[in-house]
Amino acid sequence: MTTGLSVVVPMYNEEAVVPTLVARLRPVLDGLGIPYEVVAVDDGSTDRTAELLGVQRRSWPELRLIGLRRNSGHQAALTAGLHRSRGDWVVTIDADLQDPPETIPEMLALARDRGLDVVYGVRSDRSTDTPFKRYTAGAYYRMMRRLIGGDVPSQAGDFRLLSRETVDVLRALPERTPVYRLLVPALGFASGSVSYVREQRAAGDTKYPLRRMVALAWDSAADFSAAPLRIATWLGALAFLACLALMVFGIVVWANGTVIPGWTSLFLAVLLLAAVQLICLGLLGEYVARIYRTVQSRPAFHIAADSLDPEPGLAEIPQQRSAASVR
Ligand code: UDP
Ligand code: MG
Repeated sequence: MTTGLSVVVPMYNEEAVVPTLVARLRPVLDGLGIPYEVVAVDDGSTDRTAELLGVQRRSWPELRLIGLRRNSGHQAALTAGLHRSRGDWVVTIDADLQDPPETIPEMLALARDRGLDVVYGVRSDRSTDTPFKRYTAGAYYRMMRRLIGGDVPSQAGDFRLLSRETVDVLRALPERTPVYRLLVPALGFASGSVSYVREQRAAGDTKYPLRRMVALAWDSAADFSAAPLRIATWLGALAFLACLALMVFGIVVWANGTVIPGWTSLFLAVLLLAAVQLICLGLLGEYVARIYRTVQSRPAFHIAADSLDPEPGLAEIPQQRSAASVR
């Protein structure tokens, strides 16, 4: 059974925003005039998020609750929601109302009018984000464009509209928790964008501490580019050239009848090269770990409950692989 629109909302300890979220989202969706479902994915919250959602559901039958067994990360929660959604169109949106739900009708209209498969929400103004967040986000998009190529839309986070066809293609991919903001553009579907001003978090705190941001950046780089592996080659070439230069220098000095005293320089060179080698080995190890996790094929998340389907375990998704990379 399909429905018109699914709105997937990953939620982790978002009890503070539940009432505001419902108050802002519901009028927008009711006003669309098409059947819809809101797929709230409770990503193993330890606060009252699930309970509050359950209360809201009593008066809002379109609200559907999916509970994950444990906290699996933002991208894994998104994956769970995408896999379970039934809409001809699927919007993914953060729970904290930093991305205004009022933009959804505009996205839908644009996709329908122009026959698009993907509409990105692009943040035209991030002045409500902290300077640190703005700076790191800018650096992230610059790095990704450099590593992956020009087709990464800048400042397009996880607020977007996807057609059913796009969602089905994403579901069929054998990836572990993919980084959707890079994967979706890489698929090459016809896309457009709608810009909006990023608002302040409606309530509660960010669920993306620095640790998770670094994990997301590293996952993005390693999932989409083998360029970090080439660092080893370049460092090797550099060390070789330095060695050649020192050799020439040593011979010239020797021909002039002196010997360079060199305990310190020798030690520094040995330590430097050992460090470089260990770093390169570590890089290689990161990629091997990715292969290992993919081969293990463990699911990225486990669905404990789905208000639509009393026995969610039976419909567990086979394609999902391995532990959540964005932990
Ligand atoms: N989130 C989640 N699981 C997590 C961390 C975050 O489902 O482990 C959700 C969170 O509830 C929110 C969205 O992901 O709906 C984005 O998180 P947040 O707004 O904290 O990130 P920020 O906007 O600060 O980057
Ligand atoms: Mg946010």
